[in-house]
Amino acid sequence: MAKVERMDAHRNGPAHAFDAILGLGSNLGDRTHNIDEAIRLLTADGSIRVVARSKLYRSAPWGVTDQDWFVNACVAVQTGLSPHALLKQCQAVENDMGRIRTRRWGPRIIDVDILTFRDLVIADPDLTVPHPLIAGRAFVLVPLKDVAPELKLGGRTIDSMLEKLDSSEVQLV
Ligand code: ATP
Ligand code: CA
Ligand code: CA
Repeated sequence: MAKVERMDAHRNGPAHAFDAILGLGSNLGDRTHNIDEAIRLLTADGSIRVVARSKLYRSAPWGVTDQDWFVNACVAVQTGLSPHALLKQCQAVENDMGRIRTRRWGPRIIDVDILTFRDLVIADPDLTVPHPLIAGRAFVLVPLKDVAPELKLGGRTIDSMLEKLDSSEVQLV
């Protein structure tokens, strides 16, 4: 790891303690099924356990807007995996589900991002944690609030980040 620093406490109290939060999105095929299937595959070998799951949200495409709406969700997980091993597992699930990489932010059957990992700050070429675009994405912050309402990133609450954004196009499925 090139750089690891401490940041805001990440644990949400013993009852809901989690190691990482994953953000999932799909805008191809049966999007709700794809989210469920990704969670099933992520947890299949027992190295990742889901401790909290957000509601499902339908959200307008971000970045590349000439594509179909997404379904987004977040899960808080416990895992003994390292951050890089967790990334590998997320990418293996994307590949197993048949994700084809086209243009940046283009259509995808499934996307699994590591949003946070404990209170680590990681700035490696292949892994940035917390995910660098959380604060600007209502489609991430809305489900994130379901699983970790007390979370702070860089000293900011989820609500303070959401206040700056238009969340009107993030709706319950
Ligand atoms: P964005 O990261 O802006 O949401 P994306 O999810 O569409 O875009 P991908 O094509 O899925 O981007 O991933 C590109 C690369 O991002 C991956 O190969 C991975 O190495 C890198 N990456 C860096 N930080 C993370 C992270 N926190 N979670 C997942 N991938 C990450
Ligand atoms: Ca993403
Ligand atoms: Ca991704």
